[in-house]
Amino acid sequence: MNELRKDPLLNRWVAVLGDSKPVDYYLSLINTCKPTNDGQKVQSCKLCLGRENETPPEIFAYREDGSHTSNSPNWITRVIPQLDYVFRIEGDLGRKGFGMYDKMNSIGANEIIIESPIHNRPPEDIGLKQMSYVLKTYKNRLIELERDPRLRYTFVFKDTATHQDYDGHPHSKVLSPPVIPKGIKDELDGAKNYFYYKERCIFCDIIQEELGFSKRIIMETADFVAFIPYAPKNPFEIWIIPKRHDCAYQSITDNEIDDLSLVLTTILKKIRKALNEPSYYYVIHNAPNRMPRKDYWHTIGEDFHWHIEIIPTMDKMSCFEAQNDFYILYTSPEDAAKIIKEVR
Ligand SMILES: [Zn+2]
Ligand SMILES: [Zn+2]
Ligand SMILES: [Zn+2]
Repeated sequence: MNELRKDPLLNRWVAVLGDSKPVDYYLSLINTCKPTNDGQKVQSCKLCLGRENETPPEIFAYREDGSHTSNSPNWITRVIPQLDYVFRIEGDLGRKGFGMYDKMNSIGANEIIIESPIHNRPPEDIGLKQMSYVLKTYKNRLIELERDPRLRYTFVFKDTATHQDYDGHPHSKVLSPPVIPKGIKDELDGAKNYFYYKERCIFCDIIQEELGFSKRIIMETADFVAFIPYAPKNPFEIWIIPKRHDCAYQSITDNEIDDLSLVLTTILKKIRKALNEPSYYYVIHNAPNRMPRKDYWHTIGEDFHWHIEIIPTMDKMSCFEAQNDFYILYTSPEDAAKIIKEVR
């Protein structure tokens, strides 16, 4: 069985798979991308329209007739469980000590959000209306999974480098662990500390600073700002932040979703053109599940501000950088913003 283990020095949890993969597994991850033509259906793809009964039972879907979980083929977006992955949803946490170490059962949610019935149509080409449905589906999952008291955090993310897992069918993933991952915890602590000293949200301050300076801004709409941060890990890392302060994506309005659909589509198109179709990763950074518990802090609504981080993966980050959390930028954020912004 998979389990979660806590590093006693860094307080970082890692998931350990019950069935260890052989070395061949890692070798097969290199160069397995299978390009297909736009709109083409792949024989083996179970995420395609018309193969609803071949996937695990549907968790949620948007359908043209408004019905939700019927496995019928008139869907717009669909959510299915990702079986045999890191977490299983049934059971209890079973927290226990193991000598000096802590561990617990690998309880949590792994889900696949199928972004479109059409195979291999990149998300930036699915259209603003379809993209709005994808963003609404994100909202549904965050609302649903926050209700489970065992789960602490919900990641909604997209990683195009791993699209070949599903024959290239466009999808996002949902991962909801029973712990708050270290990288997220560091960001939440940073925002909390800033609020403690200044009594202001750091992200609201960053928005003002970036709009004032303007050289790192890529796009501004009524509700969102997209920019390259001052000191990112990756030279072309882009943040999309809502202007309205809110710690959780769950409260996004329909108007804001339509605006975000335009911003995300535009940014992804710009990245594709400016950086020659790189793989990319994006993630919603959101407040942790807001269930009252021992270490819950009460200023989260004021000190944190949800946002999306987009990271094009054009160059392989060196082991030194990833291992030491010390990153070297070969293009300045100001020049990177100019490159992305100017492409039409
Ligand atoms: Zn497909
Ligand atoms: Zn804010
Ligand atoms: Zn963030």
